[in-house]
Amino acid sequence: MTIFEKIVAGEIPCKKVLENDNFLAFHDINPKAKIHVLIIPKKCVKDFEEVSGEVMLGLTTFTQEVTKFLGLDKSGYRLITNIGEDGGQEVPHLHFHLLGGEKLSWG
Ligand code: AMP
Repeated sequence: MTIFEKIVAGEIPCKKVLENDNFLAFHDINPKAKIHVLIIPKKCVKDFEEVSGEVMLGLTTFTQEVTKFLGLDKSGYRLITNIGEDGGQEVPHLHFHLLGGEKLSWG
């Protein structure tokens, strides 16, 4: 069971932002920006390589709801998903990092 599955199951607490039947958004425990939210499918998929188009469609719509809820749709934001070893993925449960709330550096 991944740590994110434990969060979905309520076994580990999280600072929830939004959820629906299939997706959950919660604050990252080690924020890399003023706003740093993780967006996950509740049903574990390992990474972007393994996710179906159907799940991505739902995840995209849900992510747009989260950005609107946080007001990031107006100010801008960054969306990142790390994949595998070279990508620096630590948790093998697909997640998008939503970063914003300030001017983000690049490079
Ligand atoms: P990644 O390196 O892309 O797999 O990102 C994993 C992210 O999960 C990191 O940014 C961690 O800070 C975050 N994280 C790990 N455990 C928790 C937790 N219990 N609650 C919230 N975020 C977590």
